[in-house]
Amino acid sequence: MLSVRAQHIKPSQTLAIDSRAKAMKAEGIDIVNFGVGEPDLDTPDNIKEAAIKSIRDGFTKYTPVGGIEPLKDAIIDKFKNDNGLDYVREEIIVSCGAKHSLYNIAQALFSPGDEVLIPSPYWVTYPVQVLLNDAVPVFVKTYEEDSFMVKQEAIKSNITKKTKALILNSPSNPTGLTYTKKNLEQLAEVALKYNLYIISDEIYEKLLYEGVMHTSIASLGAETKDRTIVVNGLSKSYAMTGWRIGYAAGPKEIITAMTNIQSQSTSNPTSIAQKAALEALRGPQDFIHIMTTEFDKRRRFLINELNAIPGISCISPTGAFYAFPNTSKLYGRSMHDKRISSSSDLALCLLEHAKVALVHGNAFGDDNYIRLSYATSIDEIKKGVNRIKEAVR
Ligand code: PMP
Repeated sequence: MLSVRAQHIKPSQTLAIDSRAKAMKAEGIDIVNFGVGEPDLDTPDNIKEAAIKSIRDGFTKYTPVGGIEPLKDAIIDKFKNDNGLDYVREEIIVSCGAKHSLYNIAQALFSPGDEVLIPSPYWVTYPVQVLLNDAVPVFVKTYEEDSFMVKQEAIKSNITKKTKALILNSPSNPTGLTYTKKNLEQLAEVALKYNLYIISDEIYEKLLYEGVMHTSIASLGAETKDRTIVVNGLSKSYAMTGWRIGYAAGPKEIITAMTNIQSQSTSNPTSIAQKAALEALRGPQDFIHIMTTEFDKRRRFLINELNAIPGISCISPTGAFYAFPNTSKLYGRSMHDKRISSSSDLALCLLEHAKVALVHGNAFGDDNYIRLSYATSIDEIKKGVNRIKEAVR
């Protein structure tokens, strides 16, 4: 008999859709895949070469659990240069992906019954990681009119004696929106007042458009920094999803607990991938500019096209690589003799009949939307949008 925990856990819905789309493609079906949450560009060559060199040099053994010192130092410099944040090695942990860093945080901070505030729509993994640690996810609804930024009042009205932490994600998956400094200041104020930890997932920090600037909430003052654990990683900025390197920075006590947990679960992240990550952070950074310039073209094209489809409206995302169009006006209609009454119906119908894979908003906590990743070529985006247009007509 499986544990109660295992009986309730569901696989990641975004990964499930991506697998289904990839399986259909393998069967020879011409699928346009908007489901995937990873850059389509290849990892830059200098990063690959660093990994190959590390294998040749025999750098293939256990490393310190929380990451090699040169990589921690590169991460410290990144925080200093990009976010104006000062950390020391004991305040940094390198994990097997940002998802793993987040899981370590959940293990280190959450006790049974603790409540964790999660602005909704949210990235699918947050509530599940909270539940896996016997804590309680408390969803705080956000609205398109507010650019999906959670308001101070909304946070306040959900705080109880059991509230332990607030999870923030800016730029956001799935909405593609970026918090303003002013909004972050208001949230930091509440967090300090009620002694909440802030878990700030900043993995899309480098993927910004329309001149928007990223602010790390930890940079808003020493007291806020003391309550914040910043999570980041290499997956998105350097097209390194398969390498599994993420990291977190925060108070020494929490990072030490996370490192102890990591030492008893996975040990160190892969030695070779750490050397690759070191090159990514220390080597030339022009790849990021090339990638964001390309994503920006796709973003503008996709948003225009989506807004030209009757029944669909989409606000302009300023970060990450997702569009999050409102499709609620389509609900109640029929497509291929099937009544569409939810985002799941729509996503399923588009997959089966239009051969377009995307993720239903319900997976992120809001049924009025669907999520499309534009980390795919302009030609594919054109083809996919035309298929959606046809299907909706
Ligand atoms: N946070 C967010 C918001 C994400 O979208 C993802 C990847 N989909 C991650 C964290 C995890 O990234 P990784 O584990 O590959 O570093």
